[in-house]
Amino acid sequence: MTRALVVEDERGIRRALQINLRARGYEVTEAADGRSALDAAARRPPDVVILDLGLPDMDGVEVIEGLRGWTQVPIIVLSARIGEPDKVIALDAGADDYVTKPFGMDELLARLRAALRRRDPAEDRPVVEAGSFSVDLAAKEVRGADGRAVRLTPTEWHILEILAANAGKLVSQRQLLQQVWGPSYETETNYLRVYLAQLRRKLEIDPSRPRHLITEPGMGYRFVAAPGNDG
Ligand code: CA
Repeated sequence: MTRALVVEDERGIRRALQINLRARGYEVTEAADGRSALDAAARRPPDVVILDLGLPDMDGVEVIEGLRGWTQVPIIVLSARIGEPDKVIALDAGADDYVTKPFGMDELLARLRAALRRRDPAEDRPVVEAGSFSVDLAAKEVRGADGRAVRLTPTEWHILEILAANAGKLVSQRQLLQQVWGPSYETETNYLRVYLAQLRRKLEIDPSRPRHLITEPGMGYRFVAAPGNDG
């Protein structure tokens, strides 16, 4: 079942979207503001996001940026703003498509299907190899070089999952904190230091000289996969 996250503060539109999407077999999660949208996406990653730009607590573009820190999920922006710059800003921030309100439900659904079709299969890399260990994103499992499962806590897994899904790319401290602990923890960088040290102890051959879970000082973290597997 395709999981859609609908982010819209206008109840009528949210409800119309929910009814139409459910009728077509989508599983729908609703959020009425940006913060609950980011929380909902982190708790249960959606397959597609429909996002209103004008939200009560933050700009929809900030929601796009928050999501893009860790996921390539298709995002369709919905907005009453008809100006060209708004479209450009939303698309540059990582939105996949743009529908201007008022919109026709059939057009929106067609754009949704197109966005889902375009999803790059290369982005779906269920197993990320790191030589001394491998991360199976689909099975939510880490295996050591001997093939045995490595036991991680849910928080350790969540961090590793985000880094491995973005293998080769820098993931900022803020993005990790926001996705794992929530928007109010964005400055708690000490959490990350503690958890990254734990992960290195469990996964790196020499935790003091990590080869895969790399700190980019003052910036964030980067998962370096085995050669030929780094995106
Ligand atoms: Ca709105």
